[in-house]
Amino acid sequence: MTNEEKVLKYIDDNRDELVRIASGLISIPSISGRPDSNEQYEKEADYLTEEFAKFGIKAEKYALSPGGCNLIAEYNGHKGGRTLAMGGHYDVVAADENTWETEGGFVPTVKDGKLIGRGSADMKGGLAACFMALKAVKECGVEPVGNIQFVATVDEEIGGPYGMDYLVNSGIINPDFFINAEQTEMKIVIAYKGCAWMEVKVKGVTAHGSKPSLGVNAVVNAAKFITRLDEKGVKYTPDKLLGDGSLSIGIIRGGNAINVVPDECVINIDGRFVPGQTYDGVITEIRDIIAELEAEDSNFKASIDFCSRCTNAVVIPDDSDLVKALVKNSELVDGKPSELGGFIAAGDNCLFHRKGVPALMYGPGTLDCIHKANEWVEIDELVEAAKIYALTAISLCC
Ligand SMILES: [Zn+2]
Repeated sequence: MTNEEKVLKYIDDNRDELVRIASGLISIPSISGRPDSNEQYEKEADYLTEEFAKFGIKAEKYALSPGGCNLIAEYNGHKGGRTLAMGGHYDVVAADENTWETEGGFVPTVKDGKLIGRGSADMKGGLAACFMALKAVKECGVEPVGNIQFVATVDEEIGGPYGMDYLVNSGIINPDFFINAEQTEMKIVIAYKGCAWMEVKVKGVTAHGSKPSLGVNAVVNAAKFITRLDEKGVKYTPDKLLGDGSLSIGIIRGGNAINVVPDECVINIDGRFVPGQTYDGVITEIRDIIAELEAEDSNFKASIDFCSRCTNAVVIPDDSDLVKALVKNSELVDGKPSELGGFIAAGDNCLFHRKGVPALMYGPGTLDCIHKANEWVEIDELVEAAKIYALTAISLCC
């Protein structure tokens, strides 16, 4: 038998073990943003550490004080090869226990080929598949030249600084490739929209509401800006995986009292970008619209700034070693290669993208069922994911 055949057979033979690991993770209510979150993260980490130890793999906790407990386990050949990291977050959102058709979000239930429970798809099922991939490679005696890493992190659901942010920015992990096992319905997500949250401040001059002609109404000028922005938009070319770029006005705030002419109106814009656009380019285009309005009307005054979340769109080339390995191995497992896809945001992957590391989402489960009652994942998909991760670890690191 080839190494690949051995690993595939091992995962088929250990299907129940894979469900057991996923269920063990689900049964710990590791909800982020709670006073006891870290205690729960510690339980997840201890559970996995014990499971890794059963087949001779050492796992270590990494926590940024006073934050969350992340976990890294590795099967390292120490022969100078490449490092594939795979995993994701083990924090989950709350489960609203009474709304489940099963015994509740944190009581994992198997029914009709599905594993049901909070985090089954987002993303403890994916983590369990990564765990099983590493276990299969090790237990089948396949030795890596490089390093196969399992990474589980905290605080993803609340965008906190204690999870992947900490591990990547402090250099604790620095892989050559990263597979984020988030629920993508087993599409290889290679394209990610960029994002920038922007704030436009329109300035006016206050006056009594009975004599508006003595002031400059910032709300009225904000309306002119919004209309012009809507008419002109910003330039982009639709992307084959990501579709259109967009600007969405999410918040507008202006005025304090009905009888006072407002001297400020603030508009918050959620910009999503496709390849070919940059957030600097988009902000320049919006500045041009402001300049145009200022040239037309000396009473018009506005400025624009980024508030947060500035990332450019990223497309991981389909000839990169990571994508090629996933395409080849998904074809080997399924008889046809997994589809390539795009997503609205890169999430934690943008931390890797900034360092030039190809990082993509590829995992079991569907977005449609997460963050609500009766979250589920197909057990067949967990098995499929574990197989493709294991073969990809062999392709890239062995
Ligand atoms: Zn997630």
